[in-house]
Amino acid sequence: MLELLKKLISVPSVMDEPEKEAPFGKEVRRALDVFLAEAKKIGLKTHDEHGYYGWAEYGEGEGMIGLACHIDVVPATGDWKYPPYELTQVGDKIYGRGVADDKGAIAVCLKLLEKFKNDGVKFKHRIRLIVGCNEENGSLCLKKYNEVDEKPTFTLVPDADFPIVNSEKGILHFTVSVPCGDLESAVVGFSGGKRPNIVPDEATVEIKKNAPLYGEIKSAFDSEEKARSLLLEANIKPHDFTIEDGETLKVTAHGIAGHAMAPQNGDNAIYKLLRLISSVSSDEFGSLKNFSSLVAFGDLRSNLAVYKSDPQSGELTINLGMVRFKDGKLLFTLDSRLPISANHEDVLAALPAFVKGCKVEEYTFSPNLYIDENDKIVKTLLSAYCAVTGDKPHCVQTGGGTYARSIMPAIAFGYTPEGRETNLHNANENFTVTELEQFYKIYELAIINLDKTL
Ligand SMILES: [Zn+2]
Repeated sequence: MLELLKKLISVPSVMDEPEKEAPFGKEVRRALDVFLAEAKKIGLKTHDEHGYYGWAEYGEGEGMIGLACHIDVVPATGDWKYPPYELTQVGDKIYGRGVADDKGAIAVCLKLLEKFKNDGVKFKHRIRLIVGCNEENGSLCLKKYNEVDEKPTFTLVPDADFPIVNSEKGILHFTVSVPCGDLESAVVGFSGGKRPNIVPDEATVEIKKNAPLYGEIKSAFDSEEKARSLLLEANIKPHDFTIEDGETLKVTAHGIAGHAMAPQNGDNAIYKLLRLISSVSSDEFGSLKNFSSLVAFGDLRSNLAVYKSDPQSGELTINLGMVRFKDGKLLFTLDSRLPISANHEDVLAALPAFVKGCKVEEYTFSPNLYIDENDKIVKTLLSAYCAVTGDKPHCVQTGGGTYARSIMPAIAFGYTPEGRETNLHNANENFTVTELEQFYKIYELAIINLDKTL
């Protein structure tokens, strides 16, 4: 297993410019070729969908159980103790980009198919290991799969945590426009945030020197004391901002980045900038002040009256991730994670109902993935997990979206042990040989039992 994993880790399969038969770049293509060559060597049936994804299949039968993994990785940035594109073993620990996300899964699942083949195990379903090439950048691989290939009866996705993720929130991304009156003549630029799913740690407004707003902000920061009392009222502090007074006045608000599925762990820089402008300016700037009042105090979810929560899938969250200025309007992009008790249309309708002239410009919605914990598939998988680990059966929820939602019906099942920090997407991504062996045993039993259950 480690030999195979070593080969996979040695290819830096980070997304790159498309080439012929390599829509996600030549290194991703090369990694897929390594996988397909190994699968052929074992004698499995294989397929290559023009570099979007590939698969290896064992067995006969009408139906099919899918195992969906991905071979692309995020870039190896940061400070690595060992070379990221070499598998380094130190005792039980192994290091390398992809050991935990998600090449370890490919190595284990392929070895498992090899064992089933060598043992001549008879299944009712074919077992197909699907290897996607674009999970880290939009899962176009599985989108393609859904369009052109055979739908599995059920798919297991080892790209999250054990024991089993039976509940994933709905993910709503939407952009609203807010008319801002005279702001256009007062500013040169207004921007913040890079992605809707990250709490923005920086937001900047660049103000013209002849605009009243220039004087208002300058005088607010005139003296530390004055600034403190004024800004305190707006729930912000002078050192939240840096100010550059040059040809224009550039005011940058600073916050703390974080994931949109838990925005309370970050500190939103756009909120601060909006509060600053609202608190110092006498101008309403169209509906800007109206909009700002929603994020000035308290919780945006409650202020919009869309807060929902349930035991199956947790709390509704909203992150204001990005702001841009265009044609006299501010465009705000938000990310909302919805429990099953919430309705995305209510969230979309909320801002226009509270803010005059506010309009939803565009949105995408990926619905919840929820399978009851008493469902027979969940029970089958959990019993395999418990038999191997000795753990008690229980499910976990996530506000993040796993690869499972791209190939429904499916469920994220492993392969990171619960509570284990593998440094996935960071430097020094690691796993252990023991954990890989445990994962192998859990999946072996789970597939054998799932084949009977389905
Ligand atoms: Zn992954």
